Amino acid sequence: MPKKIVAGNWKMNNDLSETETLLKNLKKQVIPEDVTVMVAPSFTNLYAAFESVREHPIEVVAQNMHQSVNGAFTGEVSAPMLKSVGIQTVILGHSERRAYFNETNDLLAEKVNTALENELKVIFCIGEELNDRRNSDHFEVIQNQLENGLFHISEESWSHIIIAYEPVWAIGTGETASPKQAQEMHEYIRKTIAKHYSHAIANEVSILYGGSVKPANATEIFAKKDVDGGLIGGASLKAEDFMAIVNAFG
Ligand code: 13P
Repeated sequence: MPKKIVAGNWKMNNDLSETETLLKNLKKQVIPEDVTVMVAPSFTNLYAAFESVREHPIEVVAQNMHQSVNGAFTGEVSAPMLKSVGIQTVILGHSERRAYFNETNDLLAEKVNTALENELKVIFCIGEELNDRRNSDHFEVIQNQLENGLFHISEESWSHIIIAYEPVWAIGTGETASPKQAQEMHEYIRKTIAKHYSHAIANEVSILYGGSVKPANATEIFAKKDVDGGLIGGASLKAEDFMAIVNAFG
């Protein structure tokens, strides 16, 4: 059975004191035992966040990392640096990284390798743009992102992978994929993994949905068979909304 996971991607929001306040409010809440809760603050606040939830089941994860482990890459952050402040999981391939920072499938394949070599788990994001869906190319785009960014990894590495399906047209727009659209794509992703690897691997990997998930729509999205949780943007910035989403698992 895939793990149930709800992860908050805070993106470029929350300074240090806002990070501490949000975590303080999250720590007051009871986290269901069968749900893994993650939050992804910005790099500058990772260590403080990690320290803040040291005795708490919330996991602090990173939003990105560089593909090299060190070197002359001004402004970048490496996998060993993340590890050194207690981070065990990194988000890679978010559509904002792909769109605004030119992250290609090839580059992401390198980043995935570096993360795995450094024993980091990866939340690997995939998602089609609005035009892809309008042209009915969405399955092909997803297949391409999987094949070229992820499917070079070994069977053993899959225990370190979480997939996040985030249709770009649903991110920050208030427009969510319908539960039916989410289920259809999640099922397709699982089948594609089964075809390239095995049913055993496909049936174990957590596939999260992301894109305008809110307390009001989380229950019906999470109720779908192949949806194992969510990657939450805007609604993860308020403790009560985020926890309502965490508690939306029936
Ligand atoms: P929103 O929940 O704000 O649409 O963002 C989703 C997202 O990009 C999470 O990574």
